[in-house]
Amino acid sequence: MTNTLFDALMGPRKGEDRDFLILQNGAALSYDDIYRLSGQMANMLTQTGVQPGDRVAVQVEKSPQALALYLAAVRAGAVFLPLNTAYTAAEIGYFVGDAEPALVVCDPSRQARRDDFMPPEGRLMTLDADGRGSLSDAAAACPERHDPVARGGADLAAILYTSGTTGRSKGAMLSHDNLLSNARTLADAWRFTAQDVLLHALPIFHTHGLFVASNVSMLTGGAMIWLPKFDADTVIRLLPRATAMMGVPTFYTRLLDRDDFTGDLVRDMRLFTSGSAPLLAETHRAFEDRTGHRILERYGMTETNMNTSNPYDGERRAGTVGFPLPGVELKITGEDGAELPQGEIGLIEVRGDNVFQGYWRMPEKTAEELGADGWFKTGDLGMIDPDGYVVIVGRGKDLIISGGFNIYPKEVELLIDEMPGVLESAVIGVPHPDFGEGVVAVIARDRTTPPDPQQIMAGLSDRLARFKQPKKVIVIDELPRNTMGKVQKAALRAEYADLFT
Ligand code: ATP
Ligand code: MG
Repeated sequence: MTNTLFDALMGPRKGEDRDFLILQNGAALSYDDIYRLSGQMANMLTQTGVQPGDRVAVQVEKSPQALALYLAAVRAGAVFLPLNTAYTAAEIGYFVGDAEPALVVCDPSRQARRDDFMPPEGRLMTLDADGRGSLSDAAAACPERHDPVARGGADLAAILYTSGTTGRSKGAMLSHDNLLSNARTLADAWRFTAQDVLLHALPIFHTHGLFVASNVSMLTGGAMIWLPKFDADTVIRLLPRATAMMGVPTFYTRLLDRDDFTGDLVRDMRLFTSGSAPLLAETHRAFEDRTGHRILERYGMTETNMNTSNPYDGERRAGTVGFPLPGVELKITGEDGAELPQGEIGLIEVRGDNVFQGYWRMPEKTAEELGADGWFKTGDLGMIDPDGYVVIVGRGKDLIISGGFNIYPKEVELLIDEMPGVLESAVIGVPHPDFGEGVVAVIARDRTTPPDPQQIMAGLSDRLARFKQPKKVIVIDELPRNTMGKVQKAALRAEYADLFT
């Protein structure tokens, strides 16, 4: 019997006693340790009544056991459904109601209030940050031997909810083939091998940490330095043992903030990647100045895994997300859906084996965004530069329409970001009685000179058409971000909704 994803990720690892997960205290678990643990957990899932195709919803801290649980769910033919650890009981209640999992696994601290998020008859188990809990107890009593449940490429391996940046999170249904094809493509594009040691400080409830980072490592048999979260001290201490790191832009800015983050420390690294949110060109440059490494930026999303990447060899161009990955088609379309010529800004659409199967129980939304011809409307706006590099301009939902004109926030942000006193900026549109929307620049100040709103307005006046110029500049200490480092523009729009009314 074959299980497409599990067999590819872990089949060859059976019996291998090489290090797989290196923990921050120096201890390590071997591939065989995790192989056997996932067998026990898979047996336990089946004994508990989890049937092939059933969802297993998991909101737990990152631990080796949490990764083994992902593998166990796939191995048992179930659909793994990880949830952001920041979600409250009420939010979990929404996901549990929506996904109707056969089993929910949560931190023991949540158990006392299970009625807040579970139906009375629902099955609940616990797993804590140290890998202990009723789930581990039950698994310990189960045999390690487990024949992976037969699953083909088209069967679902996971439902992953989107980050909820633009609205309510949607459950993206991902098949074994979706995940495996992308892991293969990335392993190849980024040259991962069994010799790699990937520093892994990302959460594993999101596509970046779970699929991009973990699947690529397992597929190629490399090790991971498995950190519960990004802590600059720990990362700086352990980077010299790593060969690669995958990060969100805030990892890089936080490292650059530290004087003890030096080029020497990362002399033996071969790759730094960035994604999930835009990496400022300035961060890219500062990182190269400090370390000699050019961060490789790539672009993807929950629904598709990765779509584009800067090249491993060849120029990694700051401010771009590189080229479509092998097997991924990408086009830019206008409002009528027709493909636009190179250089014009429009909606980014993608097609390939990586593209998901649709949104869980949202047939209308699926029909709107995923065409019968396989093209998926990403919701992001972008263009292709003269050399073929894809440039993300922003999200369709962040586009500002003021007085009937389209304003791409990024164009304004790039100019503001270069001005004195500005750390970074978010340009948003809020309701305006005359213009429909009014442009507002929200600026995070850097730590030295405070920015002067008058000066910023004056600085833009001869560089931007009048309709693009902010009608108001607001200075704050820092931009609101979620755990993946995404700026929460919807929250800013809500906060400043009444500015002009
Ligand atoms: P929701 O779909 O619920 O609004 P979300 O789109 O933030 O949330 P994710 O799937 O986690 O959820 O994020 C994917 C999005 O992240 C992409 O559509 C894109 O807007 C952004 N993104 C990812 N990588 C990059 C990048 N390198 N540069 C710019 N934006 C990026
Ligand atoms: Mg999205």
